[in-house]
Amino acid sequence: MKIRAAVARAREPFRIEEVELDGPRADEVLVEVEACGICHTDLSAKDHDYGTPLPAVLGHEGVGRIVALGDGVTRFAVGERVVMSFGACGRCTSCASEAPAYCRHSRDFNLFGRRLDGSSPASQAGLPLTGHFFGQSAFASHAIAAAHNLVSLGDDLPGPLMTSLGCGVQTGAGAVVNVLRAEPDDTIGVFGCGTVGLAAIMAARIVGCERIVAVDVRAGRLDTARALGATEVVDSAQGDLVAALKRLGGLTLAFDNTGRPEVIEAAYGALRPRGRIVLAGLSARGASLTLDLNRLMASGRSLRGTIEGDADPRTFIPRLYDWYRRGELPLEQLVTTYPFEQINEAAADMLAGRVIKPVLRMT
Ligand SMILES: [Zn+2]
Ligand SMILES: [Zn+2]
Repeated sequence: MKIRAAVARAREPFRIEEVELDGPRADEVLVEVEACGICHTDLSAKDHDYGTPLPAVLGHEGVGRIVALGDGVTRFAVGERVVMSFGACGRCTSCASEAPAYCRHSRDFNLFGRRLDGSSPASQAGLPLTGHFFGQSAFASHAIAAAHNLVSLGDDLPGPLMTSLGCGVQTGAGAVVNVLRAEPDDTIGVFGCGTVGLAAIMAARIVGCERIVAVDVRAGRLDTARALGATEVVDSAQGDLVAALKRLGGLTLAFDNTGRPEVIEAAYGALRPRGRIVLAGLSARGASLTLDLNRLMASGRSLRGTIEGDADPRTFIPRLYDWYRRGELPLEQLVTTYPFEQINEAAADMLAGRVIKPVLRMT
């Protein structure tokens, strides 16, 4: 079928063009896309050579309605609304132990944007386009999504606000709940207050963390962080971050989503004995940390990374729905919607920090 899709070519604006999309295979569904969030990963894939073959149809925070089912799909029905999350095979050791973010085929789906046999459901003038990015490629009117990625979405929930449950909000909330397992007596530092960091702050408030310290270089983001639950804020553009953290008396937990080595080293340095830090930001290629190893050993601290907040979307996203329904996840404070045709304006506004989470509306 012919669809409309935003085609990404390296370091060029997205262009909305006609693309040919195949029907769903046995384990896939065809989704009419209602809305899709823009995540920094989409723009990195287009402009920073992270390995996604271009041209491509990107987009990995799609929400929509199923319009056709593959022969083998039994968990979903035509007409059902779904959130599309990241790709995973559903069969490897990680997938079988409820850790699909560490699927052994993750790079195929989520970076290279292809099925396991290397094929793509999308093409243009007979030439294949990367069309299975994160198992969905949802910057389009329609997407072929792997059934394994899908989470049913009730008709009462607003599609544009639910998009980033598939990636950004899941990552931040999951890091706090699943990875750090924050508790009420924790003092948690959140470094970087984009969608992921603000989701971490909301989750820390839901968990009941005693002190929630938000760190960013943008004063406006710190105001939002405070509104969403931060009890203290540090504007790291206004002087020495290490000294500012020291004045706070140390952190039991830290969550970085800046990917910047100097910020991570400062966050790590602010941990109390047995403190834990988790990293979820995309760093420059080849970036590395300098840590005093004896201090690491003697203080009992730990440092680890996470993808998608270690979440299994099929169980974690319904928890996020419940939080939203109870008014504890005010996603409307993060989201700005744009018509699909304004994808380039939306991306520019995100990069300039004018909006937190731009969401494209296809219908
Ligand atoms: Zn797997
Ligand atoms: Zn993402």
